[in-house]
Amino acid sequence: MNEILPTPPPIVRNDYESIRELFAKNVVPSYGRFELVFSHGAGSYVFDVAGKRYLDLGSGIAVCSLGHAHPAITEALTEQSKKLIHVSNLYFTEPQGRLAAEIVKRIGPGKVFFSNSGAEANEGLFKAARKFGHDEGRFEILTAINSFHGRTMAGIAATGQEKVKKGFEPMMPGFRHIPFNDLEAARNAISPATVAIMIEGVQGEGGITPATPEYLLGLRALCDEKKLLLLMDGVQCGYFRTGKFQSFQRILEGVPGGEKFLPDGLSMAKSLGGGFPIGAFWLRAPYQDLLGPGTHASTFGGTPLACAVALKILEVVEKEKLGENVRKLGAWMQAELDRLAQEYPTAVKRSRGIGFMLGLELAEKIPALAASDKPAAIQVVNRLHAAGVLTIPAGTQVIRLLPSLNLKPQEAGEGIAKIEEVIKALV
Ligand SMILES: *Cc1c(COP(=O)(O)O)cnc(C)c1O
Repeated sequence: MNEILPTPPPIVRNDYESIRELFAKNVVPSYGRFELVFSHGAGSYVFDVAGKRYLDLGSGIAVCSLGHAHPAITEALTEQSKKLIHVSNLYFTEPQGRLAAEIVKRIGPGKVFFSNSGAEANEGLFKAARKFGHDEGRFEILTAINSFHGRTMAGIAATGQEKVKKGFEPMMPGFRHIPFNDLEAARNAISPATVAIMIEGVQGEGGITPATPEYLLGLRALCDEKKLLLLMDGVQCGYFRTGKFQSFQRILEGVPGGEKFLPDGLSMAKSLGGGFPIGAFWLRAPYQDLLGPGTHASTFGGTPLACAVALKILEVVEKEKLGENVRKLGAWMQAELDRLAQEYPTAVKRSRGIGFMLGLELAEKIPALAASDKPAAIQVVNRLHAAGVLTIPAGTQVIRLLPSLNLKPQEAGEGIAKIEEVIKALV
């Protein structure tokens, strides 16, 4: 019907084995993938090539903020792609400027740089910190044990987990790790070379651990005292996942002094484009001009297409009050996970997290899982797949739930019921 949309090439053999074979032969095997091949989705459901339906409580690792195949995203993509997809950052485009303004409006006075991923957004913050301390010879950034900051060379150096560094030494210098939520440890770790501290508001890959309000406020005061930049990685925990635009806005809600809190830099990605790649970092005034012309760049960063999609998603999130949805439904789901911990203590230790960034921490040494040497989290995630639910392991003991922001109450109910079914079978 429309000549500008060419007929896609036919999918010759849309079956599990042949797709697996394409990967085995042609795709770098850097991922430990689950044995699932997906073809399409709708809302919070996704379908595998055999037609089996799954409730997606992982949303592509906190990426598909409006679920799958959302018509508003399709429309933003098609409409903008008919106008302009890319022109490079040698020029100005309206969507990039407007998206930056929307982000600034929701965080605080400052400016935004656009990248294509979370790791790249963090790289920009590391560069801003290096620039900030350069003339004084300060360069060192403290990050938390169990943190995750991406897979680039600086990202793995920043990440406080040995498993991402192994085999890639020597690490890029200038990062040291401190225990999370331990203000004294942060104070004691500061050296004359330290220029910044970076933390996640809620540690994601490390197992769903929120920062305490005291830690955030304490780090703010410490960084002010020592002239350090306080950087926050909001790639996973940001974008309404806690019920507010950024995690610190939720964590510090109602806390005396909390309303004045701002980090000096903050990275975003994952949910920002709802599946279309886009990352960003925000720098607070007066640091917003640290990276002057010629100091930092990205060919693809902030294309009109990516920004138009991100603007549309923001519009939908606000129009449909999805932050509220996250708070209400997230609290209900967490209470249900707590109930599972009460009813099945030999399988579930406790719930973790806040909003739609939830974790189900499994009990140690569950007898029903003893026969396999796979980590408990992986085994339970596999059992949930069989039951038709997608969740994401974090470490060896935690199952993460990172649903789309527009998850519906009955879908949350279905998810909890299926999780309970799987947990019940473990006791
Ligand atoms: C996913 C993630 C990253 C890396 O983002 P990519 O888009 O994969 O580069 C960085 N930090 C945190 C907290 C993340 O969850």
